[in-house]
Amino acid sequence: TRTPLIAGNWKMNLDHLQAVALVQKLHWSLKDASHEFDDVDVTVFPPFTDLRSVQTLVDADKIPFGLGAQDLSIHDSGAYTGEVSGEFLAKLGCGSVIVGHSERREYHAETDEVVAAKTRAAVKHGLVPVICVGETSEDLEKHGASAVPVAQLETILDGLASDSEIVVAYEPVWAIGSGQAATPEQAQEVCQKLRDVIRVSLGDEAADATRVLYGGSVKSGNIASFMREPDIDGALVGGGSLKVDEFSAIVRFQK
Ligand code: 13P
Repeated sequence: TRTPLIAGNWKMNLDHLQAVALVQKLHWSLKDASHEFDDVDVTVFPPFTDLRSVQTLVDADKIPFGLGAQDLSIHDSGAYTGEVSGEFLAKLGCGSVIVGHSERREYHAETDEVVAAKTRAAVKHGLVPVICVGETSEDLEKHGASAVPVAQLETILDGLASDSEIVVAYEPVWAIGSGQAATPEQAQEVCQKLRDVIRVSLGDEAADATRVLYGGSVKSGNIASFMREPDIDGALVGGGSLKVDEFSAIVRFQK
C-alpha cells in the first residue's frame, strides 16, 4: 500500500543548465519506456541554485517528478547569512527536503538535535523531511548495524507531531559512494527496526504509512533485490541519479 519512492540526491553536482538537460532526458527516457508513474514516485534533489530551473520545467512540461532540496535552515528568516528557509523552498515548489545526510553531519557538524530542529522546520513549512540515518564502519564494528541509526531516529522523532508526514532513509555511511552496498537482508533488518521506532514515536498509522528507503551504492543491478524486502519502500540514490540511463533503469526496477 506504500507507493515506492525513488529519490535522486544529486549532491553538489550539475549546474542549472545541466539540471534542465538531465531532467528532460530522464523524462524522455521514461516516456520511451512507457513508464507508468502511478506505481512509483520519483523525486529529484538538485542543488539550491538549480531548483527554480527544474521547477519551471516540471510545471511547464508536466513532468511528473517531485522536487526537493538537500538541506534547509532551522530558522524561518532573518540574519542567517547563507542559509535557506523552508518557507522559500515550499514557495519554490519543493515538496520535500533531505535532512541529516551523513555528509552534512560529517562536514558541517550537524548533530541529531540539529537534524531534529531541521525536521520540525520542514514539517512547519509543509515540506516532507527525508530523514537520513546510518552507521559508520566504526559504529558497525562496535555496535552492529542498527544501534546507531535507531538511536539517531529516536532523537530526531522525539516530540514530533504524530500526523507529520516524513520519509526515513537508512544510509550506512560505509555504503555511500563506495560501490559496496549493504546486503538486502541487512538493510531490511535495520529498516524494520527503524519502522519500529516510528511506531513507538508516532504511532501505528505513521509506521504503516511512512516510506523507509535504503541508500548507499544503489544501482540498476541491485535495486530489485532491495525492493523485494518488506520494509524497504524505495531508494535514495546518489551517483546513480546523475546518469540518465542508470537512473531511468533504477526507476523502472522490477520486483
Ligand atoms: P551513492 O548512491 O552515490 O552511494 O550515494 C548515496 C547517498 O548518499 C544518497 O543520499
